[in-house]
Amino acid sequence: TSMSSLSVPPPQCLLQPFTVPHRYLFGPGPSNVPPRISTAGAQPMLGHLHAETIEIMDHIKSGIQYAFQTQNRMTLAVSGPGHAAMECAIFNTVESGESVLIAVHGIWGERAAEMAERIGAKVNTIVTSAGSYYTNDEIEQALAKYKPVLFFLTHGESSTGVLHPIDGIGELCHKYDCLFLVDSVAALGGAPIYMDKQGIDILYTGSQKVLNAPPGTAPISFSERACHKIFNRKTKPVSYFLDLSWLANYWGCDGKPVVIVESLAILAETGLENSWKQHKDVAEYFHMGLEKMGLKLFVQDKKARLPTVTTIVAPPGYEWREITGYIMKNHNIEISGGLGPSLGMVLRVGLMGCNSTKAHVDMILQALADALKHCHKSKV
Ligand code: PMP
Repeated sequence: TSMSSLSVPPPQCLLQPFTVPHRYLFGPGPSNVPPRISTAGAQPMLGHLHAETIEIMDHIKSGIQYAFQTQNRMTLAVSGPGHAAMECAIFNTVESGESVLIAVHGIWGERAAEMAERIGAKVNTIVTSAGSYYTNDEIEQALAKYKPVLFFLTHGESSTGVLHPIDGIGELCHKYDCLFLVDSVAALGGAPIYMDKQGIDILYTGSQKVLNAPPGTAPISFSERACHKIFNRKTKPVSYFLDLSWLANYWGCDGKPVVIVESLAILAETGLENSWKQHKDVAEYFHMGLEKMGLKLFVQDKKARLPTVTTIVAPPGYEWREITGYIMKNHNIEISGGLGPSLGMVLRVGLMGCNSTKAHVDMILQALADALKHCHKSKV
C-alpha cells in the first residue's frame, strides 16, 4: 500500500452503490413525493440573485398567500423544517421577560412552550387531555389572566389527531392586545384555514405533509400587527439565521424552493376548497372502514377529527409496535404509533396530498386487518 497523508480513509460505505426503496409513507409525515415534484427538484441550480430565482420566489410568495388565504406582504419560506418555522415565529415575536400563552393539547404545544422558555419568556400554558380541545371561553379566561403578547395554538395536532377550531380566537387575542400564532404544519391544505379572515397573526406550515415536497422548506406569514411588534423590538432575536429582518431579504436563496413552487402550483391547480374536500371525504371513508373493522377512533368529537392524520385507539391486547412493524415488513407501508401524550395509546395514519385517496385507504384497511390476524394477541 502506498503512503497517504490522510489518517481518515474514504469510507467504504460511500463507495458502494446505494438505493432508496419505494415505501408508502402513510405516517404523520413525511408523505410521498409525486414524480412531478421530485422532477422539479432535479432542475439545474441557479444563483440566488438570478432573475429566475427572484421570479420563482415571487411565485412561492403568491402560492403561500393563496394556500394561507392572506394578503400579508411578509410571506416567505424559511429554509428548514417545521421546527425552524416554529422558532422563527416565536423567536421574532417574543422578547425575554414577556408573557406568552401556549395551548398544550399535544406535543407541539409542549415544544412551543420549551422554545419560548429557552428565550427567557414567561411561559403560561393551558393544558387539556390528549384528544380534546379548548373552548373560546377557556382561551379568553387565560388571555385575561396572563396578558400574553403571544398565544400559540396548534391547528392540526398530529400527535393526537385533533383539528382545533380557529373561529373567533383571533378576535379574542386582539381584544387582549395579543398576537395569534397558529401551527398548521399537519393540516394546511387538508383542512380549511383563512389567515386574514380568522385574524391569525403568524401562520406556518411544512413542506412534507399535504404539500408532498421533501422537508426543508417551511412557508410562514406575518400580519402587519405581527410585523409592527417584531420591527419595534428592544433586543435582537437570539437567532441570526431566523431573524425576520434578514429573512425578509434573504429567504429562499438555496435552490430548494424550486420544489415547493411545484407543490404550491399543484395546490393552486387543484383549488384549496377541492383539496380540503378531498381530505375530508377520504378521511371519512377511512374512519367508516375502521369502525366497520371494530377499531375505535381516538378523537371522540367527529368534527374535531384531523382529516390529514387519523388517530386510532391502539387495539387492545396487541403490542402497537408489532402492528406497525408487521405492516412495514409485509405491506411496505409506514404507519406510526403515538407521540408525546398519545404514546402507547394510538396508531397514527397520515393521508396527505397525493396520498389522500380511497385506494390508499383500502390498502391500509387491508394491511390493518392482516396485521390484526397475524400479530400476537394476548387475552384482555
Ligand atoms: N408541528 C406539527 C403540528 C407537526 O405535525 C410537525 C411535524 N410532525 C411539526 C410541527 C414539525 O415539523 P418538522 O418535522 O418539519 O420539523
